[in-house]
Amino acid sequence: MKILVINAGSSSLKYQLIDMNGEKVIAKGLCERITIDNGRLTHKANGKEYVFNQDMPTHKEAIELVLKALTDADCGVLKSMSEIDAVGHRMVHGGEDYNTSVIATDEVIKVCRDNIELAPLHNPANIMGIEACRAVMGDVKQVVVFDTAFHATMKPEAFLYGIPYEDYTNYRVRKYGFHGTSHMFVAGQAAEAMGKPIEELKIITCHLGNGSSIAAVECGKSVETSMGFTPLEGLPMGTRSGNIDPAAIEYLMNKHHFTISEMVQYLNKKSGMLGISGTSSDFRDLTEKDAFDNPRNKLAVEIFAYRVKKYIGEYTAAMNGVDAIVFTAGVGENTPYVREMACGSLQCLGVELDDEKNYNCPRGQVVEISKEESYVKVFVIPTNEELVIARETMRLCK
Ligand code: AMP
Repeated sequence: MKILVINAGSSSLKYQLIDMNGEKVIAKGLCERITIDNGRLTHKANGKEYVFNQDMPTHKEAIELVLKALTDADCGVLKSMSEIDAVGHRMVHGGEDYNTSVIATDEVIKVCRDNIELAPLHNPANIMGIEACRAVMGDVKQVVVFDTAFHATMKPEAFLYGIPYEDYTNYRVRKYGFHGTSHMFVAGQAAEAMGKPIEELKIITCHLGNGSSIAAVECGKSVETSMGFTPLEGLPMGTRSGNIDPAAIEYLMNKHHFTISEMVQYLNKKSGMLGISGTSSDFRDLTEKDAFDNPRNKLAVEIFAYRVKKYIGEYTAAMNGVDAIVFTAGVGENTPYVREMACGSLQCLGVELDDEKNYNCPRGQVVEISKEESYVKVFVIPTNEELVIARETMRLCK
């Protein structure tokens, strides 16, 4: 079975074609500047990279170009489009309507549209991806995989805010959580590495990238997560503030003479690592040897790691214990300093990090970086959200 995985953004579209026989990626790529001029498709297949410069006025033209590349005589990997058995789409927000992946029926698309008010930056683009595939690929089955679905198992005491209850029932304001496919995947990988059924484990998964979130996964189910009503809550991130006293927002709006949208922009785009360091949102830029001599770069990374550590403590309490801690995504997989700061001094919880293993952790593999005698196992595990989408698609289309 060959599955095309689509992650559509407002002006970009990432794709992977996965052969489920062996779960091998046979082609992948990125369309950029959709709806803008100077459109570009970068397509990787057969060990080579190909670039197509072509304008894509809508997502439909982007999908057409992707299918053309996949079936091209030179850079293609398929004889015809009919070899694609199904398409799996990432959808950021499923609201409270979906706690699992579903086939993209008209009704499902309508509900995703109703949820646009909950994810105005993401759901519209994800829907455009589905509609473009429907228009170009006819009745090939399409599946929707939600970022929020894995966290649907949180209980009200975890997902409700301390605001009037009617604002939950009337306006759906609650914690939803994001990065669900990633948390689900790495928790499963950790259980496999430990040789135990996930139903017997308490795992804290730290998805630390440009956007970052942490989840408490008990018996395979998400019981807590750090992102909230939107991905702005929780850890300070590349450019997002994470948690801040809500009263400081009005105070800062007055000081800066900001409108609401300027304030939202400040919190989403000018804060986090970028705002604290004043130099970059990118952990590579912040942690390079010379850069790290800049005290504000170091401070930004330390604030980040300290918050990660506090979530680990909080989620250990929430689950009354922890068997494994997992680090994943760009920062989690590649920045030993953050891992050391976050759990190098958590002996009180039974965590014994092995410095040697932490600092010499090979990339792209499941690696245990705790000492053998550590009660809590610590892992670095590469995430693979596309594979989760492909597996979910296969499960529903078989
Ligand atoms: P993601 O959102 O998962 O793509 O992660 C992006 C973040 O991971 C950026 O801050 C990158 O600087 C960071 N990152 C990616 N690769 C590396 C690396 N090799 N070393 C340090 N940080 C990295």
